[in-house]
Amino acid sequence: MERPILFLNPVFKQMIWGGSKLETEFGYEIPGDKTGECWAVSAHPNGDCVVREGIYEGKTLSFLWQEHRELFGNIGLDRFPLLTKIIDAKDDLSIQVHPDDAYANVHENGSLGKTECWYVLDCPEGAALVVGHNASTREELKSMIEEGRWGELIREIPVKKGDFIQIDPGTVHAIKGGLMILETQQNSDITYRVYDYDRLTDGKPRQLHVKQSIDVITVPAPSAKDSVKNVDNLPENVMNELISCKYYRVWKMDVTESVKVMQDHPFLIMSVIEGEGLVNEKRIKKGDHFILPSGIGEVEFGGSMKLIASTVNA
Ligand code: ZN
Repeated sequence: MERPILFLNPVFKQMIWGGSKLETEFGYEIPGDKTGECWAVSAHPNGDCVVREGIYEGKTLSFLWQEHRELFGNIGLDRFPLLTKIIDAKDDLSIQVHPDDAYANVHENGSLGKTECWYVLDCPEGAALVVGHNASTREELKSMIEEGRWGELIREIPVKKGDFIQIDPGTVHAIKGGLMILETQQNSDITYRVYDYDRLTDGKPRQLHVKQSIDVITVPAPSAKDSVKNVDNLPENVMNELISCKYYRVWKMDVTESVKVMQDHPFLIMSVIEGEGLVNEKRIKKGDHFILPSGIGEVEFGGSMKLIASTVNA
């Protein structure tokens, strides 16, 4: 049974807040100058990545998940569990919150909730993200939302390149204009929009989900200090774990010399976020995304590059 490295072609999404850095910074061919998202590793029906080369060329990730589960360690989940995106936010994204699995199952027709995490690829000096809020009770949260006291409610925290942020369900969050982010998330789309800066799309405001948001937002929010960590200067040539939660594990590896990594997970998603190098003697560069399948064994890396890796925690 062959266990090839699965290189994937991304799917691009136009967004009102998108820009063109996925072309200028990552070299992708993008569909327009409001390209907000690159779905780099996805088996979601709204963007199912296709294998770029090799014996599975032209096959979608969801097809391989259904028909070749051995590539993913034969794990018994009903869908490919993760989704890796690169986000180019030219303008602010709406302020939102995701439900957990239990709430989504009851209120969203059996859907999964959503946990996600962000690695800051690039941002301007003095950049900030919205993570958490300042209400101390649910009553206060409710009145701040209903009275539109956004300045009081929303908590912005300063970030810089190389910061890593875990967004648990119930966390109020938003990516601000100017940031590029690599997002690893549960394979789900359930988002409740709390506030959209009163913007209009085609003359109309986008739908808000006020009741659901008030239901699911964690009160009080965890401290700002506990929400962000800088992971820019970790030891080189080893897999540094950034997070292990119920749904995924994420690592960063800065390659500067030849390194061998034992792939003993059900599968390992890898994204080259800077530089170029080799994986098992194949050339790879910034913007490449691939999956090391189950059973591939020891994999050799070389060159000068930074990678973010992830797998399921099942
Ligand atoms: Zn989100």
